[in-house]
Amino acid sequence: MEENGKRIYLDHAATTGMSKRAVEAMLPFLTEEYGNPSSLHTVGQKAKEALEGAREELASLLGATAKELTFTSGGSEADNQALRTAAAWGKRKGKTHIISTAFEHHAVLHTLEQLGREGFEVTLLDVHENGLVTAEEVRAAIRPDTCLVSVMYANNEIGTIQPIAEIGKVCREAGVLFHTDAVQAAGHLPIDVQAQNIDLLCISAHKFHGPKGVGLLYCRKGIPLATLVEGGAQERGKRAGTENVAGVVAMAAALREAVDGMERNTVSVGRMRDRLIDGLGKIPHSALNGDRTSRLPGNVSFCFEGIEGESLLLLLDQKGICASSGSACTSGSLDPSHVLLAIGRPHEVAHGSLRLTLDAENTDEEVDEVLRWVPWAVEKLRGMSPVWKELEAGEKQFLL
Ligand SMILES: *Cc1c(COP(=O)(O)O)cnc(C)c1O
Repeated sequence: MEENGKRIYLDHAATTGMSKRAVEAMLPFLTEEYGNPSSLHTVGQKAKEALEGAREELASLLGATAKELTFTSGGSEADNQALRTAAAWGKRKGKTHIISTAFEHHAVLHTLEQLGREGFEVTLLDVHENGLVTAEEVRAAIRPDTCLVSVMYANNEIGTIQPIAEIGKVCREAGVLFHTDAVQAAGHLPIDVQAQNIDLLCISAHKFHGPKGVGLLYCRKGIPLATLVEGGAQERGKRAGTENVAGVVAMAAALREAVDGMERNTVSVGRMRDRLIDGLGKIPHSALNGDRTSRLPGNVSFCFEGIEGESLLLLLDQKGICASSGSACTSGSLDPSHVLLAIGRPHEVAHGSLRLTLDAENTDEEVDEVLRWVPWAVEKLRGMSPVWKELEAGEKQFLL
């Protein structure tokens, strides 16, 4: 599909390649140091030392203590375990009301749906047109029987950053647990579970140049963790299964590297993002999704009227540009993105979405290429679109 074999990867919100440092950190634990941390012999104890060293490192990067971290198979499992933990905590106290938002990741939304079937009452807050919720709205929704507020730190489709420190403060004052899905934030935005009053937090290594299939759940001391995977004493008996030592070690190296480079990357990546937003905004009947300023440094999300996002992706792919229409998890389904619907985009418009997610490995030359090919592709598709013809003929009203 790629012309000249070159590839412009702009789908870092879906996943990232491993950094050299993370690979180097990981390799010994795939080869010579392959011990099982539960084994009492020297080889096992070396693995255990590496695992616990990584736990200390990750804890210090999140403002947590090592005992508060549980390793999981990634963000989805961590989200599931976080919500189950808070639900069990609430149930014991006779509190079965949960507050979240309409634009959470499906790992959260689907777990909440399941909790709804198990007798919990779930309030999903509306998201404003700019893709933000406010701490005041969270405060207003809290009831005496509320056990949990779950609001993601940064959205994976439109990149908006929620005021989580303020929301955390509101929850702490009300005696309600606060969970945040920080999968898109980790490595890109500051995290301090103490300062931000976070009780439960999830991250996933493959979103910040670590390996796929490993993540963690931070659960504040004193909150009993619910168990999803039974069968062993690993992770203090709360998550059975031989630990992914190599993955955890690489996750720690990747997060350390991302946090060390955060300030520099925020500036350089943000500059490329802004060039893309300014350039693509010139396409007629287009609209930026999500707030212009309170957004991830690497996120560009647009809707273009009169086209199908999927066709746009295929055309761009022919030019070597790897993009997304929104979430990797819903691609392949014909439903428009629940995030775009949540910020009030009509169905017709939500179908014409494009998400470009940048990273420090992208370049200004790549941005130039994108600014050349996206307007070309949109025009080409509109030229073939019956809907566009109706719009131009005035038989249908433009929505953007
Ligand atoms: C990717 C992602 C997840 C899922 O993480 P996995 O490690 O792929 O299971 C959860 N939440 C958000 C916001 C994500 O972007």
